[in-house]
Amino acid sequence: MSQECTHDCSSCGADCPSRQQAPQHEAPNPNSSVKKVIGVVSGKGGVGKSMTSALLACAMRRRGYRCGILDADITGPSIPKLFGIHGRAMADSQGCWPIQSRMGIDVMSINLLVENEEDPVVWRGPVIAGAVKQFWTDVVWKDVDFLFVDMPPGTGDVPLTVFQSLPVDGIIVVASPQELVSMIVAKAVNMAQMMNIPILGIVENMSYLVCPDCGKHISLFGDSHVDEIAAKHGLKVLSKMPIDPQLAQLADAGRIEAYGGQVLEGAADAVEGLLK
Ligand code: ADP
Repeated sequence: MSQECTHDCSSCGADCPSRQQAPQHEAPNPNSSVKKVIGVVSGKGGVGKSMTSALLACAMRRRGYRCGILDADITGPSIPKLFGIHGRAMADSQGCWPIQSRMGIDVMSINLLVENEEDPVVWRGPVIAGAVKQFWTDVVWKDVDFLFVDMPPGTGDVPLTVFQSLPVDGIIVVASPQELVSMIVAKAVNMAQMMNIPILGIVENMSYLVCPDCGKHISLFGDSHVDEIAAKHGLKVLSKMPIDPQLAQLADAGRIEAYGGQVLEGAADAVEGLLK
């Protein structure tokens, strides 16, 4: 890779190894129009990747952008539940249509296609990856400024295929303080770098808890290492999101859009920057 690499092989003639590995992205549904695709990744499940995808889409919607969320976490889909969406997605001659949230965010998830949303998806990796591809090739993402892809967790076969199939413009890595000290985040970061996808930065979730009596920030998991780990990888820390019981309550009630806290503005700025 040249030192001036912009990760845009279309405007570069260098014959570097990363160019030869440049993935062939799937073409979107012909009726789709998506300006930027943002992958939200984590090293493992349960760190708040879906929460971050949902809150970021809300933050960008509040800034006036049209947003969609492609729930690529096929075996652990939680996006519809966060938004209180329980309908069945419909298809017509143009393709399959996402369901809109109350704020007007387009959502597509396996849970909007299965008969019973509590049924587990017991599919093998290639079938799961195929379903995610179809969420891109068959779903009509109409006039979407930012499509957030809630990626399958980890660095296995499915996330790899998703990375290769979708034209991801930028990645946000979500991690909890505990996970940050392990090698899991490094693996996720290295995977994105190997795929030549720019990483917008890290969101540290569950960073601290605000004492309801005195407002003091309590670091439940000890001192945060996010700044040093981000520096080690040359990444920015975009936001530090607290553990907030109200977030958990609203998530459980399917009313995540009602959350008033502005906890992801730094990440939203980075996403908005993709259009400039
Ligand atoms: P992932 O997508 O990484 O598997 P989720 O976003 O589904 O993780 O979050 C796991 C659980 O933790 C969910 O029940 C979610 O509501 C809760 N949660 C995530 N982030 C927070 C937070 N900052 N404060 C309170 N609860 C949170």
